[in-house]
Amino acid sequence: MLLRVGLFGGTFDPPHVGHLVTAVNVRHALQLDLVVLMVANVPWQKAGTRPITDSAHRLAMVEAAVADVDGLVAGRAEIDHGGPSYTADTLQHLAVEYPGAALFTIVGDDAAAGFETWERHEEVAARSSLVVVDRPGAPVELPAQFEWLRVEVPRLEVSSTDLRARCADGRPLDYLVTDAVLDVIRTAGLYAGAVR
Ligand code: ATP
Ligand code: MG
Repeated sequence: MLLRVGLFGGTFDPPHVGHLVTAVNVRHALQLDLVVLMVANVPWQKAGTRPITDSAHRLAMVEAAVADVDGLVAGRAEIDHGGPSYTADTLQHLAVEYPGAALFTIVGDDAAAGFETWERHEEVAARSSLVVVDRPGAPVELPAQFEWLRVEVPRLEVSSTDLRARCADGRPLDYLVTDAVLDVIRTAGLYAGAVR
């Protein structure tokens, strides 16, 4: 049996319940063996707009978040590769790591709407099935020349941006990130001085 592997890329600064609910529900809906939460090394579309937390800390948080979850794994290939992170390259890497696997690129609706701005996005569409996570009642308009699989997941209005701001001004993150992620944040002293 060939593996079915989902690639869910992100900055994960920090990873939150929105990411986890998405990953487990897409895995279930599309019967994927694995969903790789791939931690971007340099998120080139975000670089320069705000300070990005060190990749080792972001990887540690994702590893903590998925440690006890069946079928979810933290991906470090983009960090190991170094430089800017392009999904086209990462899919090539996964094709070598999981020979013959069917690959699925999973994106949230905001990321899907900007798909055509991705470096070598035609290659991404050729190497993988595109999956967009739909929020109930709010189907996003998608680049029409590509075929998209839509998976509906519960809408959780949580973003890493909001979590960094909460952390910076001392509001609780409980239930928005897992306890294990909270431990990493506290131990490493992340986001204390983060600004919106
Ligand atoms: P930031 O606020 O810093 O942009 P983020 O919360 O959007 O962070 P990212 O790491 O940028 O998180 O997102 C990684 C992927 O997760 C993207 O495909 C994004 O669309 C998706 N995503 C982010 N938040 C949610 C959410 N609450 N529910 C479902 N998908 C989400
Ligand atoms: Mg985002």
